[in-house]
Amino acid sequence: MPELPEVETVRLGLEKATVGMQVLGGEVLYPRTIAHPQSSQAFIQGLQHATFLLWKRRGKYLLSQLSLSANGQTGWLGVHLRMTGQLLWLTQDVPVPKHTRVRLFFGNNCELRFVDQRTFGQMWWVAPQEDPQTIISGLQKLGPEPFSEEFSLKYFSNSLQGRKRSIKSALLDQALVAGVGNIYADEALFMSGISPTTLCHQLRVEQVQRLRTAIIDVLSTSIGVGGTTFSDFRDLKGVNGNYGGMAWVYGRHGQPCRTCGHTIERIKLVGRSTHFCPQCQPES
Ligand SMILES: [Zn+2]
Repeated sequence: MPELPEVETVRLGLEKATVGMQVLGGEVLYPRTIAHPQSSQAFIQGLQHATFLLWKRRGKYLLSQLSLSANGQTGWLGVHLRMTGQLLWLTQDVPVPKHTRVRLFFGNNCELRFVDQRTFGQMWWVAPQEDPQTIISGLQKLGPEPFSEEFSLKYFSNSLQGRKRSIKSALLDQALVAGVGNIYADEALFMSGISPTTLCHQLRVEQVQRLRTAIIDVLSTSIGVGGTTFSDFRDLKGVNGNYGGMAWVYGRHGQPCRTCGHTIERIKLVGRSTHFCPQCQPES
């Protein structure tokens, strides 16, 4: 599942490829991908002749502001990749695979293609008179961005205080901090020497501080190398990132810990595979 670094990698690719480009037309091959408006036709109509101005990322949401006309009207295109969604920038003559959901056409034979095997991915067209926060309701539930000032030590420790759930489940909660998923939660917990089963209220201040730093570090490192090799993530050109080769624990169960040599273990926590080193991440 794409997490913050993968989505950020896609965003950077979209900025490069589409800003200044005008949508000439498109087609929706799988209507359920369109979360708003209700009709696929209205989605395509809204985007037709719109020009991409910029791409933002909020949590795992991609948001593009589009210019609609010379009189300054703008709208928004929202995309969430969910489990298996992929945005690809290619030419229209590239064969269209089975799981293609939406195609947007541009000049010079270019195309932005949304391919999504598991079909959980979503797209929104937000018209000028509408508010993206209302239409894309998931945006309202997001906690602070990990790189923002709001994700301060004070905010993080206050949010964890008195909570009796495991720190792993807290990190997966997008309302606590936006964009962290299974891979980076496991990696950040290893880097800060915290067992994933530790209950939030048991964490000491210095542990919370280490964890906050580790989250920021692991995410920025992964953005720097273009996302991970986990799952089937591909960037806009279909290229795989390479963070996977550097993982401390994620996907390494049964292999020796890179720090102490103890075997990496895997357990299920809140229904998600959780990887850790029992020696480097002792239970407190
Ligand atoms: Zn270890």
